[in-house]
Amino acid sequence: MTTDRPNLLGLTPEELSDALGVHFRERGEPAFRSRQVARWLYEGDVRSVGDMTDLPLSERKALSGAFRVEEPEIDTVSISRDGTAKHLWKLSGGEVVESVLIPTGRRLTLCISSQAGCALACRFCATGWSGFGRQLSPAEIVTQYRASARWALENGLGAVSNVVFMGMGEPLANRKAVFPALTILNRGYGLGARRITVSTVGVLPGIKALAERREQFRLALSLHAPTSELRRELIPLEKRYPLDQLMTALEEFIRGGGRRVTFEYTMIRGVNDDLALLPRLADLATRVRAFVNLIPLNPIPYVDWKPSPRGRVRAFEAGLEAAGVAAAVREPRGRDIEAACGQLRAARRPDRAGPERRLRGVSAPHSRSGPSAPL
Ligand code: SAH
Repeated sequence: MTTDRPNLLGLTPEELSDALGVHFRERGEPAFRSRQVARWLYEGDVRSVGDMTDLPLSERKALSGAFRVEEPEIDTVSISRDGTAKHLWKLSGGEVVESVLIPTGRRLTLCISSQAGCALACRFCATGWSGFGRQLSPAEIVTQYRASARWALENGLGAVSNVVFMGMGEPLANRKAVFPALTILNRGYGLGARRITVSTVGVLPGIKALAERREQFRLALSLHAPTSELRRELIPLEKRYPLDQLMTALEEFIRGGGRRVTFEYTMIRGVNDDLALLPRLADLATRVRAFVNLIPLNPIPYVDWKPSPRGRVRAFEAGLEAAGVAAAVREPRGRDIEAACGQLRAARRPDRAGPERRLRGVSAPHSRSGPSAPL
């Protein structure tokens, strides 16, 4: 058997039905076989072709000769005191990525990764400091959902209700895999588009491409600063895709109605939490009717920044609300297992985030040389 057999878990429902249609037609099998297989994958949660028990044995053999059903291996699961559970997945080639299950009230949110590492080097983000490893494939993205959802059910957390692309990586810098993964989650596994949030630090062409899709996926913009000057100090990508252009793209995104935009605002003491910034932040949010998530900075080892004091975070929340902007403070979850926003760095990864980089002080991190991530 060769390993280049396509992984059925990485095909969109249309691709799946085409590929299986050809396969079964060539074998003189009836057309309903394709639907049987699709059901096993999306509803039956099988982990191998061998488990598709209503296919004749000879067909299971032929199918597994032509395709594979493969999930990444779980390296470790860490469970936080607050119930947050982090999975570390081993990918082929030695890279590892993380995903996080976050139970909140009746919801169970799954935060997934779209790249091993990240090339965008935001100063406050641990993943950014660790550099870029490689792009994930559609199967590697979707299987984080599939395997985590199974783990959640088996461990009493219930069904995953929401998926957010807020793990490692910049999803809109890996559209080639993220876009089909969105289709698979939505049309294959039946997760409503409004329950799926793509979070971006501002990859302009990606925002435009997402706006062109018919489904109403949600978009979160990692804003972190309401002026271009300040944003540039935190997010190197601001130089390439400045805030005014991002705002125009967001206006386009919400045109036609039905779509929601969220701003993520990581609050860093003395850096972006001056009350004088509030009116400008409220203006931006009003322009695109954004909901604002205020996130007290989760400390990371590479830079000596502290979260804004609680009172200041509350003052931002109250100030936004007084200006008619819906806002909430996102309580840190899973800090004790380094599963909180911005803390994911997959510590086991080989050869990245070496000690020199950690000691290099607080200048903006640079992605390591090697493969570069297209934007
Ligand atoms: N690249 C995407 C998705 C990954 S980051 C993006 O930037 O949106 C997911 C969220 O965590 C983003 O809003 C990010 O800005 C935030 N974040 C990153 N580092 C953080 C930190 N140290 N503390 C709190 N939030 C952080």
